[in-house]
Amino acid sequence: MAEPLPYGRQSIADEDLAAVAEVLRSDWLTTGPAVQRFEADLAEWTGGTPAVAVTSGTAALHVAYAAAGIGAGDEVVCSPMTFVATAATAALHGAKVVFADVDADTANLDPAAARAAMSPRTKVVAAVDFAGHPAPASLYDIAHDGGALLLADAAHSIGGRLDDRPVGSMADLTTFSFFPTKNLTTAEGGAVVTGDERLLSRAREFRNHGLVRDRSRQRFPDEGGWHQEVHEFGLNYRLPDVLCALGSSQLRRLAAFKRRRAEIHARYTAAFADLAGVRTPVTLPGADPAWHLYPLRVLEGRRRALYDHLRAQGILVQVNYIPAYWHPVFADLGYRRGLCPNAEAFYAQELSLPLFPDLDDDGVDRVVDAVRAFFGA
Ligand SMILES: *Cc1c(COP(=O)(O)O)cnc(C)c1O
Repeated sequence: MAEPLPYGRQSIADEDLAAVAEVLRSDWLTTGPAVQRFEADLAEWTGGTPAVAVTSGTAALHVAYAAAGIGAGDEVVCSPMTFVATAATAALHGAKVVFADVDADTANLDPAAARAAMSPRTKVVAAVDFAGHPAPASLYDIAHDGGALLLADAAHSIGGRLDDRPVGSMADLTTFSFFPTKNLTTAEGGAVVTGDERLLSRAREFRNHGLVRDRSRQRFPDEGGWHQEVHEFGLNYRLPDVLCALGSSQLRRLAAFKRRRAEIHARYTAAFADLAGVRTPVTLPGADPAWHLYPLRVLEGRRRALYDHLRAQGILVQVNYIPAYWHPVFADLGYRRGLCPNAEAFYAQELSLPLFPDLDDDGVDRVVDAVRAFFGA
């Protein structure tokens, strides 16, 4: 059988290896100069909006919600068409997650549904740039009109743009993931991005145990030069220098990654244009997505059969995602199926085809031929 083709995978070049080796030989393995460098490099992709590097996309969400100050009695309006972490990290802070339905075409949070799901207790509206397509810009005003902040889970979409504005510049808080399948990798890693000084300082503190080093803010500033104190609980979510160096090196390759992902995306879409059994992904006017996934929609209840057919040939397709509230942890809290019909219909059809920068045209054609053969085309 031919080589297995995963739905996503990292691209590691010699320059990435050299960047990591250089840090391993240096004085700092963690919390040194490579962290600030990576954060500055990230800001070049977010229109200058400052970034806080953390240990994963999940940590980034946990930190972002901490910065927003959510807790028991607060509500977070959340897209269900996402990896469970977008909702789970809000629940871990004690907030109630209120799922609002997605747009039937893009699977991004639907602005009207988000507005309808808000209440006076809503502190955050959490959108997801599904597959790399930025969420609607109108969500910002909808969140703010209701006295809430907009969080963009941009785990899929670093490098994407909407109406000429970069992802990372459009929400109060934006989070990234640098897991190997994502648009760039630090093995594990993530970042929180915010243009708000107060949110930024709270995010930095939560990443580092809540430690306050600024003497002007300390309760006991004359304790001695060693002194630091905790005013609010935090965690250790620091991304080491070793991984930040990999991140900076990967960012230098991000434009090429995005270009190749777009080429593969276009090749799939052209190859399936005449195929009645599927629908190809939608790009809205003004959007310049950074395609992380190729979410093909398989019609007539044949998604499971096509999944099994492709997997049997070593084409390791994936399904993104089971609606978040279908997870038993939410079902046990009383969330019922049927809550978000568009998300459930999308889930029933979704199949993520292999999409990663090192996938060559022969690999793409192998996937295309296998899908077409399944439909007898
Ligand atoms: C990957 C992902 C996360 C979590 O990121 P990790 O780095 O794996 O912790 C969160 N949200 C979405 C939409 C993701 O795709």
